[in-house]
Order: sequence, then C-alpha cells, then structure tokens
Amino acid sequence: MLRNTIRNCSSKIATAIKSSPRGFAATPTETADAVVVGAAGLAVARELALRGREVLVIESAGTFGTGTSSRNSEVIHAGIYYPAKSLKARFCVRGKELLYKYCCDRGIPHKQLGKLIVATSVAEIPKLENLMRFGIANGVEDLRMMEGSDAMRMEPELQCVKALLSPSTGIVDSHSFMLSLLGEAENCKATLSYNTTVVGGHIEGDRLHLHISESKELANNIVDSPVLPQLILIPRLVINSAGLSAVPLARSHLIYPMPEDGGIGVHVTIDLSGLVKFGPDVEWISGPDDISSFLNRFDYSVSSDRSARFYPEIRKYFRNLKDGCLEPGYSGIRAKLCGPKQPPQDFMIQGEDVHGVPGLINLFGIESPGLTSSLAIAEYIVSKL
Ligand SMILES: Cc1cc2nc3c(=O)[nH]c(=O)nc-3n(C[C@H](O)[C@H](O)[C@H](O)COP(=O)(O)OP(=O)(O)OC[C@H]3O[C@@H](n4cnc5c(N)ncnc54)[C@H](O)[C@@H]3O)c2cc1C
Repeated sequence: MLRNTIRNCSSKIATAIKSSPRGFAATPTETADAVVVGAAGLAVARELALRGREVLVIESAGTFGTGTSSRNSEVIHAGIYYPAKSLKARFCVRGKELLYKYCCDRGIPHKQLGKLIVATSVAEIPKLENLMRFGIANGVEDLRMMEGSDAMRMEPELQCVKALLSPSTGIVDSHSFMLSLLGEAENCKATLSYNTTVVGGHIEGDRLHLHISESKELANNIVDSPVLPQLILIPRLVINSAGLSAVPLARSHLIYPMPEDGGIGVHVTIDLSGLVKFGPDVEWISGPDDISSFLNRFDYSVSSDRSARFYPEIRKYFRNLKDGCLEPGYSGIRAKLCGPKQPPQDFMIQGEDVHGVPGLINLFGIESPGLTSSLAIAEYIVSKL
C-alpha cells in the first residue's frame, strides 16, 4: 500500500523536497487532509468523513481492531465510576446514548442486560452508596439501590448484602461495531492504509510532517537504530489515536508535551454468545520499546496459574464456585497515564492550545470506558475543529 502511495505521489516530490529538513531530503513527500493514526480511531475517521473531510487512516497492523479494541470486555458502561465533570464521565454517558442508538439503527448485536454492583459485607455499603452518588452526579439517572435479598432473587447464585442496579449497562459486539464504522467511513471515501506505521514526525513552518514506514520494514529494523521514513506525509489535521502507542508516538518522536491501582475489580461479564467471563484483574507491566509498541508486540499471553488469584475474589459474591472450573481467557492492556498507587487519570485530549502544534489532536489514556465513549469522543473532536 505504501509503495503504491509513494508511486502515486511521485509528481509532487520535486516541489516538496525543497522544504524537507536535512536528513529527509531524499524522502518522498505527500500532502493529505485528515490523517487518523490507528484504525481504532474509526469513530473519529467516520465522523470526519461524514463531514466531507478527505480521511486517510494509517494502521500498522494488517487489519483494523487488532489492539485493545478487540481485547476488552465489550461492556457498554453506564458512567458510574468516574469523577463528576471528568471527560470519562461526560463521554461515557453521552457515548452510551449514541452507541445504543447507533446499534439499534444498524442492527449491530448488543443487549441492554443491566448490571448489579454488589456489597458482599456491611463494610462495603458506604462504598456502594458513594458509587450511587457518583453515578447520579454524572447523569446516570436510572440507578436503584436494592436489598441483598432482592438482588439474590434476581441471581440465585449471588451472595450479597446490598446491590446497586444499573439498568442502562449492556454489552455490544465490538467487532461488528468497528466493521460498521469502517463501512460508513469508506462509503464517504475514507481510505485505510494497513501495514503502514507512523514512526515519528517533525514540524516545519506550522505544519506537522509525519514520518511513515511500511510495518514490514520497521519490523526488520534493529531496536535503537534510527528509523528512516519511506514517506513524509504533510496533513492538515492529525488525530493521534494510536492507543497504547499514542504516548510513545507523541513523546519520543512526534511533538512535545506529555506528560488505582488498576481497574474496577474482578467482575463478571457475559458476551453475546452467553459465555460468562470473570475479570479483568490487574498486573502492572512495563511497556516494550517504541517500535515494538507501534507494531503491537505486547505480551498478551495468560498463564494458567493466574486463576488461583481469581477464585477467592469471585467467591466473595459466588460462594459456590467450584474448584477447577475457570479457564484462562485473553488479556488486554489498559492505556494508563498513571502508575501503581497513583490516582486514576482522566482521558486526555490535547489540541493546539496545549501543545502549540496546529492540526494535531492527541488522544491519550483512552482506557475503559473508551469503547463506550468512542462516538462521543468523535463528536467532541469534530465539534472543536
Ligand atoms: C481488559 C480491558 C477491558 C476493557 N473493557 C472495556 C469495556 O468493557 N467497555 C469499554 O467501553 N471499554 C473497555 N476497555 C477500553 C477500550 O477497549 C479502549 O478504550 C479502546 O479499545 C481503545 O481504543 P484505541 O483506539 O485507543 O486503541 P487500540 O484499539 O489499541 O487501537 C490503536 C491502533 O493503533 C495502531 N497503531 C499503534 N501505533 C501505531 C503507529 N505508530 N502507526 C500506525 N498505527 C499504529 C494499532 O495497531 C491499533 O490498531 C477495556 C480495555 C481493556 C484493556
């Protein structure tokens, strides 16, 4: 794909080379309107394409949705856990509304199952009441506190003293959702360039220049040796939605500033085929080098001994869980902006007002509820342009 792009733009090279900085003088250049880095920015790509922008999505993998967007619990979150007025609270509540409507209108598999958050001891009741207050402050208006006995009638295997019912929580088939976003973006002439990686960039005049390489070439590159781009792309607008790589991309190569201990507990989710999943739990990891990160070379393996830690957690609310009934599933990596023991961070959306680079929007820390929020994030970005 990249070679075709290079060939297609050969007529533009002669004029553009003059303004290339030293070191990139021989590299072909091409201009573009809006570039979205990372195919999981599909919601943004679709929104921009619907509004008439010429969109190019650059994706290092061979297809869309191979990163965190296909390694999550596929829950449509209600918007309970996040501090009032945070972007997470705002985008989750708005995103949930947009996502249900989107799925209903297009027949995308989803179910509004509702969710119970349970207090398994009297000591946990104040926490549960606090969650209810958070939810109400965030505009989650349908929450209902229940006696344990009522919740246990709904779920006979459950043990709890009180429960918070969230009727608007649901599940969605994330792959069908992404496929639909992709189809609509492509219908509006958005182009996807797979196996293509943004390896860095520089600013020239007031325009950002993206350094592009074929992923295959990059994979052959020796770690720590300089990566020479095969193409320099000069877009009017760049959305950095590279997921786990969004920060390394901005920090180490692109522009400048950048900057719970984990998750929300080992919870139960059910996917659309009825499979019951427990988790995710939390294990802090250190990231790989930047190039491995761009190429999604994270260690996603799940060791079978990990289940030993799940049994006691799950038995707090499902006392009858039998030994040996858990099987390892899959793992995903949360795009965290904070470390262990640090307070949770909000989504971070940086525009020119923060980093001073015209036409660049960085999406950092798009962890859960990022899937639920995706349409609202897209709506917000487009409204700011
Ligand atoms: C275990 C787990 C459970 C979760 N559960 C939920 C849930 O139930 N509900 C919910 O709402 N959210 C959930 N989330 C969060 C949600 O999955 C993420 O917020 C969302 O998928 C993030 O999407 P993204 O586009 O930021 O990243 P990604 O999906 O990782 O996409 C980034 C893309 O960028 C590409 N890329 C990276 N670097 C480059 C580069 N240099 N050049 C070109 N392309 C590049 C990658 O190949 C990848 O395709 C969960 C997350 C985890 C980890």
